Amino acid sequence: ITHHQKDEFIFVKVDARLIMQVIENIVDNAIKYTHVGSHIDIHTYYNNKYAVVEISDDGNGISDENKEHIFDMFYKGNMTVADSRRSLGLGLALCKSIIHAHEGTIEVHDNVPKGCIIRFTLPLEEVTINES
Ligand code: ADP
Repeated sequence: ITHHQKDEFIFVKVDARLIMQVIENIVDNAIKYTHVGSHIDIHTYYNNKYAVVEISDDGNGISDENKEHIFDMFYKGNMTVADSRRSLGLGLALCKSIIHAHEGTIEVHDNVPKGCIIRFTLPLEEVTINES
């Protein structure tokens, strides 16, 4: 993953296939656990140390009690899935394993005024390379 600013590319060293899997799982949840007409936003930025990816929706959100468990294996909360796709409660546990393997962090927050934000970070490479 690269982020372009002026003449510099700042690198994040990742297994792109696995990080795509993480994004797919989170976006899939945002679709599964919200109603038709809801909005899903993907926002990326970086600071000195981390690339940050935030995926937010304006669905019913996640209660504080469930927030503590959604990254656990086989945890499904008490959500009823809007369609018939299989739900195993493994998606976010897998995301957590992949992000931790990259020495990043993953958290859930409330969106305003409603819904939730899943935010993950990936450490930036220390080296920046000039284009010219
Ligand atoms: P599942 O296979 O059940 O989707 P996950 O590990 O991906 O398993 O998610 C765990 C639980 O977290 C879900 O069952 C659901 O209760 C809750 N959850 C995940 N994403 C959202 C979301 N965007 N909005 C509301 N609840 C969510």
